[in-house]
Amino acid sequence: MKITLITGIAFLTAALCYAQQPQQRPATPGASGQKQEYPARMTPQMTEIMEPEVKVIIPGDQPEMPPSDAIILLDGTAEIINLEWEDSQGNPTKWILQDGALVCVKGSGAIRTKRKFNDFQLHIEWRAPAEVSGEGQGRGNSGVYLQGLYEVQVLDSYNNKTYRNGQAGSLYKQYAPLVNACRKPGEWQSYDIIYTAPRFASDTTTYFTPPRVTVLHNGVLIQNNVSLRGPTLYIGMPEYSVKNHGDGPLELQDHGNPVGYRNIWIREL
Ligand code: MG
Repeated sequence: MKITLITGIAFLTAALCYAQQPQQRPATPGASGQKQEYPARMTPQMTEIMEPEVKVIIPGDQPEMPPSDAIILLDGTAEIINLEWEDSQGNPTKWILQDGALVCVKGSGAIRTKRKFNDFQLHIEWRAPAEVSGEGQGRGNSGVYLQGLYEVQVLDSYNNKTYRNGQAGSLYKQYAPLVNACRKPGEWQSYDIIYTAPRFASDTTTYFTPPRVTVLHNGVLIQNNVSLRGPTLYIGMPEYSVKNHGDGPLELQDHGNPVGYRNIWIREL
């Protein structure tokens, strides 16, 4: 019995050792008569993709200037404003053009692009009024609504305390910015926003993948690929307002303060 057990263990060990040996086909002579390895040894070229070639574009002279494949949404001319923007009823915007900036007129309502977008890279410049009035949410408040639903807050957050997830650069009431990179009121500021739209499966009230947002404020990373819970709400839980949607416009909020915008361009991804 003991001998049978020892024999069994020895046989098993031998079988395992054999199984762990690299299995190679016998080398066969190639066309040149030399032996070929199997599997073939990898070369650098095996992981180098040549086609299709990457599309060539021309970058802007400065990082804030639009590259050749951008859609210009605001360039300081009335032509582009009339071509690209409308109010929420589809009428021409009542916001005014002042010194190359499109300025919010209190009570005129939000404005939105006539175009609709899915995933994009957006550059937008904004300016809170130089003359400070109001405080908290009442000071230089506007907002950039991605797909008309998700607000990147615009606010004069220079020495102006408010709730952290409602200050400039917040994904309003969902994510506070990583830092406060605000310039003084009256100075131009920029947001560079990379947006990945949500995807929906058959359930129309749940994201298959949520919207994701990255924001640089004056060149500083303040939102790092955050996942949104739902559309922006002033009151309530965003999760409960999720509803299947497709492409959407870019919208600028009228919060009653004369916030100005300039140099807006977008690249569809
Ligand atoms: Mg706002």
